[in-house]
Amino acid sequence: MTGYRIVAVSDELSERVRTTLKSPQYGHPAFIEIANGCGPCRSCLRKFEEGKEERVLFTYNPFEGISDLPAPGPIFVHREDCKKYEGETFPEELRDLLLVLDGHKKDGMLTRREQIEDGGVDERIQQMLKDPDIEYIQVRNGQAGCFITRIERTANDN
Ligand SMILES: [Zn+2]
Repeated sequence: MTGYRIVAVSDELSERVRTTLKSPQYGHPAFIEIANGCGPCRSCLRKFEEGKEERVLFTYNPFEGISDLPAPGPIFVHREDCKKYEGETFPEELRDLLLVLDGHKKDGMLTRREQIEDGGVDERIQQMLKDPDIEYIQVRNGQAGCFITRIERTANDN
């Protein structure tokens, strides 16, 4: 078993978009809306309660600091403060979504893509982390394509 951690959007970034209502990376306006989809929130990685919870939609580059080529896309976080997911297991709430796992090399190049439609996400993550070419995994929504979260090996496995 290769140890890994889930790297959700930082508290600093979530806080900035909630207070400025602009994308912290791009300055584009952010939008507040009542959730009309399950999401999830990219901070706590919980699904939104549709028709109830408010969320902020903004443009985000999930490759900042890890790849020269940005890949901006829309993401959501809860309008109200929420607790950032800090875990070394895959979030339970995301297991029934259609997911795509993108394995990237150190230089940011995509080297492997796995579609998860039938469960078994843990096995796929382990298989990908065994590949020394894969530096990190970007988890994306298999329908909308948007970024959900990042998976990185924990330091003691290197
Ligand atoms: Zn949240």
